[in-house]
Amino acid sequence: MLSNHREKLEDHIHSYYRSMDKHNSFLRRAKNGSDAEYLYKSNLRPLDLNRYKILKMIFSEADSYLRHYKNLFRVPWKIYEFEDGLGELPFPHTHADTIFLPRQWLKNKADSGDIHSIASTLIHEKIHIYQRLYPVYAHFLILNVWRFSIASTSDIEANKNILRKNPDANKLVYKDSEGVLILPIIQNNNSSKISDPRDHPFEIMAYRLTDIILNKIKPYEEEQTWINTYL
Ligand SMILES: [Zn+2]
Repeated sequence: MLSNHREKLEDHIHSYYRSMDKHNSFLRRAKNGSDAEYLYKSNLRPLDLNRYKILKMIFSEADSYLRHYKNLFRVPWKIYEFEDGLGELPFPHTHADTIFLPRQWLKNKADSGDIHSIASTLIHEKIHIYQRLYPVYAHFLILNVWRFSIASTSDIEANKNILRKNPDANKLVYKDSEGVLILPIIQNNNSSKISDPRDHPFEIMAYRLTDIILNKIKPYEEEQTWINTYL
């Protein structure tokens, strides 16, 4: 890995863990944020060669859907493995421009030959990288099309103890069009589907766009215009 790339990645990881509270650290089997960061970083590995070979097949499967979306398609595949549950919850996630996959999760999925489900996860994660590379475009969808708005600090202050940390989210809190806060609370740890109205808009966006890209749902007109212009 080039040193500039490595530095950007480490900066992103560090800023994520620097703001991690005790409750979120405990969930990651760590005493505090810096302990979680140490655990996580010391168990990161580049992809093992065998799994890289399998993933190359899955990249082409995912790319066959992504090639219709020019900006998303241009985002290169960069993948790391991490040790499940050490310093981070055992779910695929992203930092900077790189996707991180839990080692056991990837092994089980690859062994079961479930290529479509891994491809779907990779598309979801690539949308999180798109959100980082194209924050203005992403906010056109969130603020202008979906009519969410950004909440004030006083709204957030009252709820900060229960917020679930997620490396794929930004640090903003949003309200829906009725003014109800969209807060990813810790109790919802296992559910981050679109049906969970309290999940961070970046998650709502990643789930919904993945379903649209895989032709599981149809976008409504304003979404389709946004997709044609920006995705
Ligand atoms: Zn996600």
